[in-house]
Amino acid sequence: MSSTFFGAIADDFTGATDLAAMLSRAGVAVTLRIGVPEGPTEATAFEVIALKIRTVPPEDAVAEARAALRWLRAQGAERIFWKYCSTFDSTPRGNIGPVAEALMSDLGLDRAIHCPAFPENGRRVFMGHLYVGELPLHESPMKDHPLTPMKDSSLERLLAPQVARETGLIAFPTVRAGAAAVRAALDDLRGHVVVDAVEGDDLAVIAEAVQGADLICGGSAIAQPLPALWRDAGAGLASPADLPKAGGGQVVLSGSCSAMTRAQVGAYIDAGAAGYRLDPMELAKGGLEAARAWLATQAVDAPKILFATAEPKAVAAAQEALGVVRAGTLVEDALAQLARDAREMGVGRIVVAGGETSGAVTRALAVESLRIGPEIAPGVPWCFTDDDTALALKSGNFGSERFFAEAFEMLETGAAAAE
Ligand code: ADP
Repeated sequence: MSSTFFGAIADDFTGATDLAAMLSRAGVAVTLRIGVPEGPTEATAFEVIALKIRTVPPEDAVAEARAALRWLRAQGAERIFWKYCSTFDSTPRGNIGPVAEALMSDLGLDRAIHCPAFPENGRRVFMGHLYVGELPLHESPMKDHPLTPMKDSSLERLLAPQVARETGLIAFPTVRAGAAAVRAALDDLRGHVVVDAVEGDDLAVIAEAVQGADLICGGSAIAQPLPALWRDAGAGLASPADLPKAGGGQVVLSGSCSAMTRAQVGAYIDAGAAGYRLDPMELAKGGLEAARAWLATQAVDAPKILFATAEPKAVAAAQEALGVVRAGTLVEDALAQLARDAREMGVGRIVVAGGETSGAVTRALAVESLRIGPEIAPGVPWCFTDDDTALALKSGNFGSERFFAEAFEMLETGAAAAE
């Protein structure tokens, strides 16, 4: 069994995919695990464990993260990464801070670096404050998030109520002064150290400064420069194995209602894909049989999409009638069953839109681990299951308007099958 070098613990599913894609882009072999593996398994140099602990009680999040850490260390992981969202999605209780502290304790560390910045996606940290595009976090759409409304932009102030240890900041002027300056500043700090990053170049500086750290916490962007640095430092890191050629038919399953997904669904149908709209109210009344029957009559190879994607007004109406949780569950369960049906009818390439939806579909298909393939769009790679089904799992706002068509074109032109 080959040994693991880098182990990441991600607080949600698409966050894990995003990180795995970043690492894969850096040219190393990555396996994404859905939950902590139970039985013996072949580990790769880079392991990313997807948990679902963003909004669970902090005690549960800590227990799961610790179990993931134990598994990663048992595989030999020397570098640990705590992956959370680049918009620092958390509540006043956690779970970013509590998990970071538990990992520090288990690793015997007195310092953790926090770098959520993802400049390519407009997430920047300046003077310890997180910006989304041009807006401070607390003025961005994240202020209205249903589960983790972000009411402040100061990362130190957000962390403080979540942690027992002190917080500190390595501010922009120090980062611009270079890696040696960052290292010197780090030496003087303990506890949770937030690091500013405005552009990709800043991430390169930070990565150089922290490449020897046992624990890094943050978004996926800070991870991307690390493999090259570790290789330069002499770590023998395997490149990705050739990926299988994905065959069989295709389907898109969309449960995301984000603005970008709405545009993507419209563009795909405008371009000729057959479409079936799932309505939570109809699902509540009449069940899923009509959708299953529709899918069964479609040609396995033809472009087709089943979507619950709807405008905010329709979503609000469904939520009012059914309750937020029930509306969501009806849609997720429906898309999960349709994924199983699609697989049965010989579909081997499945694109899923929506973070929660992706979780539901992978559970339904009993996926335990995924090999990471090429990126379709930043943060969204094709992934391959043990039985070589190709899955693309896209969270809400990722990808361009033609994402669905682009995803399949990429497999068809063989870009994914460099055999
Ligand atoms: P995103 O990545 O865009 O946040 P998710 O899949 O994580 O997408 O979340 C979208 C949630 O909205 C899911 O729980 C899904 O079941 C639910 N949903 C999808 N369509 C509808 C709809 N028409 N009405 C109500 N809820 C919906």
